[in-house]
Amino acid sequence: MSETVESLKARIAELEKLVYVPGLWKCAKCNFSLMQATISANSGAVSTRDQPGERCPNCDVPLWRVTERESSDGIALRCEEAIVEASTLRASLKKIAERAEDNLPMRTPGAMVHIAEVALANPFKVKG
Ligand SMILES: [Zn+2]
Repeated sequence: MSETVESLKARIAELEKLVYVPGLWKCAKCNFSLMQATISANSGAVSTRDQPGERCPNCDVPLWRVTERESSDGIALRCEEAIVEASTLRASLKKIAERAEDNLPMRTPGAMVHIAEVALANPFKVKG
């Protein structure tokens, strides 16, 4: 019987490692998040710390562990927000280029819009 209990405890511990993000805690009230880590003074090694006990500095309530699902949902939400923001900024840049085109005497019509389109198509190749 005790062997079964021990094997079940081991299985629970194994499954908890798969469910929760190591060392990540959050407040259920205000979404404050905390990554708990321990740094070894001797070796300099950093390891996650999964022991409960920290409290939210904003709400003074116990923090909850964060599941992999919650973490990935949060990442997906932030990616979606970044895509919307990038799209908005691209539209703004194109409008600015069109206005500059209207206000500056250019030798080549459409040059500013072309520059903006090249910058948008190659965001990492443009030098500031
Ligand atoms: Zn809080």
